[in-house]
Amino acid sequence: MRYVSFFIIGLLPFLVKAQVTPKYIFPINSGSQQYLAGTMGEIRHNHFHAGLDIKTEGKIGIPVLAIANGYVSRIGVSEGGYGHVLYLTHLDGKTSVYAHLQRFEEYLENYTLNRQYQKETYPIQLFPQKNKFYFNQGDTIGYSGNSGSSSGPHLHFEMRNAKQEFLNPFDEFSFSEIQDNIAPRIKYLAFKCLDLDARVNGAYGTLLVQPTKKNNLFSIQKSIHLSGNIGIEIYHYDNMSGAPNRNGIPEIILKVNQDTLFHQLKKSMSFAKQRDISAHIDYPYAIDKHITLNKLYKADGNKLDFYIKTNQGYLFDEIPHELEIILKDNHQNISTLQATLNNEGPYDSYFPHVTTFEIDENQLHYVSTDAASQIFLEDAFIPLQPYLSNENQYYYLWDLRSGLPDFIESGNLKIQPHFLTEIPSGIDYSFHNEDFILEVNKKSLFDTLYLQFTKEYDSLQEKLVYTFNDRTVPLRKDVIISLHDTDPQKNQYQVFKVDKKNRLYYVGSEQNTAGRFTFKTRELGTFTLDNDTINPIIKPISWDRMGLKFMIKDLKSGIKSYHATLDDHFLLMEYNAKKNILSARPKNEKKAIKGLFVLEVEDNFGNKTKISKPL
Ligand SMILES: [Zn+2]
Repeated sequence: MRYVSFFIIGLLPFLVKAQVTPKYIFPINSGSQQYLAGTMGEIRHNHFHAGLDIKTEGKIGIPVLAIANGYVSRIGVSEGGYGHVLYLTHLDGKTSVYAHLQRFEEYLENYTLNRQYQKETYPIQLFPQKNKFYFNQGDTIGYSGNSGSSSGPHLHFEMRNAKQEFLNPFDEFSFSEIQDNIAPRIKYLAFKCLDLDARVNGAYGTLLVQPTKKNNLFSIQKSIHLSGNIGIEIYHYDNMSGAPNRNGIPEIILKVNQDTLFHQLKKSMSFAKQRDISAHIDYPYAIDKHITLNKLYKADGNKLDFYIKTNQGYLFDEIPHELEIILKDNHQNISTLQATLNNEGPYDSYFPHVTTFEIDENQLHYVSTDAASQIFLEDAFIPLQPYLSNENQYYYLWDLRSGLPDFIESGNLKIQPHFLTEIPSGIDYSFHNEDFILEVNKKSLFDTLYLQFTKEYDSLQEKLVYTFNDRTVPLRKDVIISLHDTDPQKNQYQVFKVDKKNRLYYVGSEQNTAGRFTFKTRELGTFTLDNDTINPIIKPISWDRMGLKFMIKDLKSGIKSYHATLDDHFLLMEYNAKKNILSARPKNEKKAIKGLFVLEVEDNFGNKTKISKPL
């Protein structure tokens, strides 16, 4: 760390004349070519990536540099998330963020270690006073690592504005360290029916098409027939020169007959709107089919604001439509898809795969081997005609806005959708019956929820299981569920989530005396009540005066906390949840660990395991 002296300030005008210093420099290995594993705004599992992931050749311990003069405004240490992270605030009010570090520069490292000991905690967030720790451009502030939820060594780097919104670093400064002359790629183009009458190649659903590529021009070889209101979606990625990673791009434009229908440009984004990614992508498709489609329209409830122009689907008719999709990466490499959609020529019939029945938007879609069907709704049978048939398969559609059926019959097929009610989005809503209470916050839903519920005895698990819709329903905010079970034997039980393979995941719940088990969740699906009576496992890997390393694990409810002491004094331990490793280093690197060591690990049900050894 250097301090600006009057002497240097006096020389400054001379230096500026001699050599123009860049406003910002690259944060790692400055001056040589670097590669990215991620870009700002890139679509990740449940968020937009907030910065650049800079590859470090699989290594850790590479010096990380201050991109400009600035003071340390925040220091963070956490087991997950950003791990070891530093925030530098600069003169222009912007903040640069450096995450997943191995360690900080020595003075900051000791300062943090002292605070961890003072507060007797490993995870810590510190907000030092302005200018307490000041760095000049190019100073080493820490060393790159793989800490927190990082899945491999790299530097996660962000730029934020004064409102703490994350910015695209490529808009903030130009750096020669990253080279790219490869244009983005469109892997899939999808056409999704957005209303009851919409059809893609004769069927209702989402038709996935793989475009062909010639240079940077993509096209569609097959004839596609579209009618009704259709949403266009794409799966795209950007390879950059010299690295295989699939990165994101800031800009996409959709034109139909030369009219711009959709234009997205990611320049700044707020952390508060991160969950709206579930409306920006085709969420059920991503969950079911593991393909993340970027909608080129704005779905109901989507509050993101990086769209310059948008639409709610496009009404296709018999007139030919010239489709054009333009993708731009951070280095102005452009790809274009062009196609004429004219509903002419033979097309491949599309028979969507529907298991029993599916709910897509407001439509209930089902398949039967019988050419007739009826819907039982409010004590009356309504006959329904198939809209499509294929040999002995008949496809039916029912618009749920016309009512929620109690059951559906078609030949031998009997469908019970188990609807309870319709919950509108945008309002606080509470529903209860004898089995549960569901509380939905006004921000929880993106769109109307047709609430489905079953309570069944699972003989394999020997448990009652409660199912609320399924996990393809996107939720922006938690909903609160209280399961009702007065069985006194379940007194110590808590809530677990049950996945498709019948595996249990701890959710946790609070219990009141009336037999209500209350929990929050941001994912619907199947839940059950269960107990955990097994103590956590502690397996020593090494424990002597030179260092401590343990494998800690809990087989059922998971680890809640750990606590270590040396001669009854707090001992700081570092928990790597990814590897189930708990380790410790002495407060002073030169001193060996000496004294009576005690470690206690507790699971989420309060089961404890304790080990000790004089060192
Ligand atoms: Zn990252």
